[in-house]
Amino acid sequence: MELTALTIHDLQGLLQRREVTAGQVLRAFLKRIAQEEGKVQAYMAVTGREALTRAARLDRRLDKGEQVSPLAGVPLAIKDVICTQGVPTTCSSKILEGFIPPYDATVMRRLDQAGMVLLGKTNMDEFAMGSSTENSGYKITRNPWDVSRVPGGSSGGSGAAVAADLCAGALGSDTGGSIRQPAAFCGIVGLKPTYGRVSRYGLIAFASSLDQIGPMTKDVRDAAILLRVFAGHDPCDSTSVDMPVPDYTAQLGREITGLRIGIPDEYFIEGMDAEVETAVRGAISVLESLGAKAERISLPHTEYAVATYYLVATAEASSNLARYDGVKYGVRTGKARNLLEMYMKSRQNGFGAEVKRRIMLGTYGLSAGYYDAYYLKALKVRTLIRKDFEEAFKRCDVIVTPTAPTAAFGLGEKTDDPLTMYLSDIFTISANLAGIPGISLPCGFTQAGLPIGLQLLGKPFDEATLLQVGFAYEQATEWHRRKPPL
Ligand code: GLN
Repeated sequence: MELTALTIHDLQGLLQRREVTAGQVLRAFLKRIAQEEGKVQAYMAVTGREALTRAARLDRRLDKGEQVSPLAGVPLAIKDVICTQGVPTTCSSKILEGFIPPYDATVMRRLDQAGMVLLGKTNMDEFAMGSSTENSGYKITRNPWDVSRVPGGSSGGSGAAVAADLCAGALGSDTGGSIRQPAAFCGIVGLKPTYGRVSRYGLIAFASSLDQIGPMTKDVRDAAILLRVFAGHDPCDSTSVDMPVPDYTAQLGREITGLRIGIPDEYFIEGMDAEVETAVRGAISVLESLGAKAERISLPHTEYAVATYYLVATAEASSNLARYDGVKYGVRTGKARNLLEMYMKSRQNGFGAEVKRRIMLGTYGLSAGYYDAYYLKALKVRTLIRKDFEEAFKRCDVIVTPTAPTAAFGLGEKTDDPLTMYLSDIFTISANLAGIPGISLPCGFTQAGLPIGLQLLGKPFDEATLLQVGFAYEQATEWHRRKPPL
């Protein structure tokens, strides 16, 4: 098999036994990127030259028999919302064009220490606002399974890069589904950790009470490997929680006999795609055949999740994005007669339409006179949604749902109608509002050959059970082995 088609754990074995060098692995990926990236457009930037230097340095150390770090020589792609020292980081926004962070995000520092090779930065919806990556200020990423369709979003570049074997694994960020939904659309594994499990230091903020960084990988074991490397408390992020990080891979392979899975009525709704429903129900039967006990549950406030999210997320975004004023970072308009005009023109030219829409919605929801009616009420409903999950988890260990109501939609299909675009996150948003972890993994394909995603939601800080159940399902099925026909 091609080196580029291998999982991280396969590559680890080859690299550690010195059957391949880090240089060989890297060159295989650079060659594939040269051949296929034009069709997919997953990357904002490929850092080939720096990567070659890094791989050569790693090889010299490995040749000397130095202790091998877990990711030594593994090439990863990083969503362009994560700060990389010395490497441009734009959030796919024109307003950050040319911004080169003077420091690494904590996740980057930890991956670096573990020996990974940075392959490049991936395309995304501008400031992670979107579900199709079409809101990028730079380029349109295509779904490797069908290049006339979207890869999902906002981590669409990472999703497409993993699916098309343009990297061994990737990092995404998830505020309302941006790891899980593109993972579903691209037929890969994507995990959103519990809020507080992973440091947000160096993650450019969209909605700070919802954002989390997580792995996007070719299988469940790879997600466990990456999460273990970068999760854990960080003094630079006061919302990261000081709890030990379990060895997630050690739990894989444990039986799931007796595990209680909850099937929420509210996630199997009229109007959802029949092929998606069939695939997810099929996956539930597989879990039952492995010994799990399925039970219907209710999450009664689900219908308010999208509205609540679009109040909370836009309010936080309007305040987070106030810092882009043309002074501190990125692009500044040259033609302005005074300071105010410079602020206004820089923001007007630098932000795309969706970002402006969110800033206006958020500012409105926070303004005097509307604060109580909108923002404050949304916070109260958010508590109700969290309590729904607390109640449900008294009766079950994991909750099983579809990741998205449809498979990947066509490019341009939803760009004129923000509301239908917002509704594509209907099944992923609640987990962010409640702060709980969620994973998406492939559970079938539509007639048209598009991947379908299965979502597992877990108790706070119980990523281990999600990975265990996901792994058991993956072992019993073959979906994760399929490759897109590029
Ligand atoms: N699609 C959702 C939004 O546009 C979620 C994005 C995300 O998770 N970053 O806000």
